[in-house]
Amino acid sequence: MYKLIADYHTHTVYSHGKGTIQDNVEVARRKGLKKVAITDHGFGHIGYGISRKKLTQIRTQINRLNDKYGDIEILLGIEANLVGINGQVDLLEKDLKYFDIILMGFHKGAKPHSVKDGFNLFLKNFLSPIYPAGREKQRQLNTQAMIKAINRYPVNIISHPGAKIDIDTRELAKAAAKRGVALEINASHGFLTVDYVKIALEEKAPLVINSDAHRPDDVGEFSKGIDIANRAGVKPEHLVNSREYTVLNQGWR
Ligand SMILES: [Zn+2]
Ligand SMILES: [Zn+2]
Repeated sequence: MYKLIADYHTHTVYSHGKGTIQDNVEVARRKGLKKVAITDHGFGHIGYGISRKKLTQIRTQINRLNDKYGDIEILLGIEANLVGINGQVDLLEKDLKYFDIILMGFHKGAKPHSVKDGFNLFLKNFLSPIYPAGREKQRQLNTQAMIKAINRYPVNIISHPGAKIDIDTRELAKAAAKRGVALEINASHGFLTVDYVKIALEEKAPLVINSDAHRPDDVGEFSKGIDIANRAGVKPEHLVNSREYTVLNQGWR
């Protein structure tokens, strides 16, 4: 039903993936993709984050592979971390020039922007399943933090919205639609869920199905995401990585 031509979310050994950049590219080519993005974890992820010092090296490697292969475009991206309630993300202005695409998501293993953010965005979310009081307030705080982040930074995709952190999908989808930011249907995590995708469709947010591959063989592996999209009534033209994508948003490559 969907002809997906790009996988905009894949990891390599530069964070905690198993393969090299070239391994991911080879699999993407074998599966007939026209674009693949290398999106390792942002600098602020404890243990997994890529090292800023390696950026030049990674960029050069990707440029070389682009010269080598005429049948696929390789993008350098990053899966940046939301680290503050005012929408802070673990990216600096000077980092931006390296990237063709930016994903942003919440990960528990990221280093908070400040002690206050550690308390409000990390600790409280961690505790909220145990202490349900205040959950709705927390959900709004999380959602506003994400919205501020996409308004502050040139984010293209929000990775796995709703996984690891509770969000108000409708509010986020409204803001994403306005900014032309795609909400991800993640084929590994299963977020967005079917219900969330339906809401995102109503708000006309662009959508994308990504593999979030951590092993080369999983690059271009979209089945779980396709199943969610199908059940939610997503049409190929809603997906920024489908051949048929037609919906409005400029910023899309
Ligand atoms: Zn992630
Ligand atoms: Zn990821």
